[in-house]
Amino acid sequence: MFLTVLADTSGSDSGALVGMVIFFLCMGAYFAPAIVARDKRNFGSVLALNFFLGWTIVGWVVALSWALMKDSPAGVIQQTAAPHPMPSAFCSACGKYSQGGSKFCQNCGQPLVVTQGS
Ligand SMILES: [Zn+2]
Repeated sequence: MFLTVLADTSGSDSGALVGMVIFFLCMGAYFAPAIVARDKRNFGSVLALNFFLGWTIVGWVVALSWALMKDSPAGVIQQTAAPHPMPSAFCSACGKYSQGGSKFCQNCGQPLVVTQGS
């Protein structure tokens, strides 16, 4: 065990050092739900529940299961939607861009040449 090694290697500070290590290990275990949810949309909610109710075992378990839940479909769509899902269509007649997928210019009605973003 590395804790034993830490305790044996140094002098009077070893107790404090081991105490700090144990403290951080406990903090890591205590905030495990928040750590798991760090990339989730509901991270703030999980963190709040973890922080305020984590000391109750029930609150900690609820926070962890909440953290392991998948994001709602709306959140997934919000996160994965590309900023420009369709290539924009450039009109060579009037020099303006129309919505991607359009066959005719939305400004002047001329046929469009679809430009692919390189
Ligand atoms: Zn046009």
